[in-house]
Amino acid sequence: MPSPVRVRLAPSPTGPIHAGTLHTGLFNWLYARSLGGTFVLRLEDTDQERSRPEWEEVIYQEMRWLGLDWDEGPDIGGNYGPYRQMERLDTYRDSARRLLEAGHAYYCYCTPEELEAERQEAQKKGVVYQYSRKCRNLTAEDRRRREDEGRKPVIRFRVPDGEKVVFDDLIRGLIETPTDSIGDFIIVRSNGIPIYNFAVVIDDVTMKITHVIRGEGHISNTPQQLLIYQALGLEPPRLGHIGHILGKDRAKLSKRNGDAYVGDYRERGYLPEALLNFMALLGWTPEDGQEFLTKEEMIRQFKLDRVTRAPSVFDPDKLDWMNGNYIRNLSLDELARRSLPFLQKQGLMTDALQPADWDRMVKIMATVQERIRTLAEVPGMTEFFFRDELTIDPDAAKLLTEQSRAWLGQVRDRLAVVEVFDAVQTEAACRAFVEENGLKAKAVFQPIRVAVTGRTVSPPLFESMALLGREKTLRRLDSVR
Ligand code: GLU
Repeated sequence: MPSPVRVRLAPSPTGPIHAGTLHTGLFNWLYARSLGGTFVLRLEDTDQERSRPEWEEVIYQEMRWLGLDWDEGPDIGGNYGPYRQMERLDTYRDSARRLLEAGHAYYCYCTPEELEAERQEAQKKGVVYQYSRKCRNLTAEDRRRREDEGRKPVIRFRVPDGEKVVFDDLIRGLIETPTDSIGDFIIVRSNGIPIYNFAVVIDDVTMKITHVIRGEGHISNTPQQLLIYQALGLEPPRLGHIGHILGKDRAKLSKRNGDAYVGDYRERGYLPEALLNFMALLGWTPEDGQEFLTKEEMIRQFKLDRVTRAPSVFDPDKLDWMNGNYIRNLSLDELARRSLPFLQKQGLMTDALQPADWDRMVKIMATVQERIRTLAEVPGMTEFFFRDELTIDPDAAKLLTEQSRAWLGQVRDRLAVVEVFDAVQTEAACRAFVEENGLKAKAVFQPIRVAVTGRTVSPPLFESMALLGREKTLRRLDSVR
């Protein structure tokens, strides 16, 4: 028997996936996978101005890149579709009709101006605004008059007085909200398109979602949603709200303090497995406190009761550190494969790779693997291997003084005659020069590095020279003399 657990991620196709959605998606996915349940992807595309099919594609791509696979979704279908809200308007309409008929909802004809006036009035009095309920008890005649004026109604939910909405949050325990603090809220706009709080309930029920795991920002929406379940006589799923992710400044994560889209992380050279590992540890700790976990290990260890309600801090340095660790654990071949797009983007590699190019590429990877934290660092660090003409960094060029250029000339002559141009012999030749002349190694090696790599920081010098080959190395030393 498949597990009855059904969870979902419900992003809006109005932009790429950012860290918060990735985090929620990951926790839902882990929950489903850890229990053999079903992970549903569905799209909240009711914002017609901003929803775009292109964004839908981006969401799929990003999820695929992360390796978060879904069992049902707009692109693959499933037994509970459709999975785009705009294709589900009939379902919402039916439920709205049931609420209207049972008196749990009513048509409201108030104009934006009237509502604005109410809002201002509340502000003047210094009270929290709630809809005045002006349209709660309109007669058929009242309604007809307004419709004759050409007014198009919204549908509002009739919130009961003097009750409490209580739910047992999976992560936070009991949460209680007096209904008196909730105004009669809109569930369907005048154009027939449902509001999030209503659509999400209908979606979760019809898709048989058993657990809703989402960000704590949605706690304030939950009472409205629970009132709708109650009015429709439906059992709500279990709900759990994970803590916010904060930036290092302890403010909610935003673009300003480090939030980024999944695609940005990819472009900045993070590995999907490192990003997932890092994200999983924001608000969750595995029982054994292990820090590096493969996806399989995360699935094996994931337990909702080890997810904290406390906010967690997104530390970009930790992500870099973790990513660097993951990079060091890749095989050189794999590192080359993953670095290729970064090199191609900088025009350092073409599509037409020959086996020899690949061999060289793998060797180049060996010189940087220990030194990089992101794949995006690869082109800058290895550019000198790929370019014929070297551009020397202006700051680094300062090391090429008259004195050091004279040394470089002599070093060049020694390198010209080493028997085998490998790291051992090139190093021996350079050291011999340093020692015989009573110089400091660094004083000589740094200018060599600048001449050969164009930078003061580079992969190991002698390995780099060996890989570059005698001819190119000598040419570079010649060109700075
Ligand atoms: N589209 C909503 C969001 O991404 C879904 C909220 C929910 O999970 O209920 O925040």
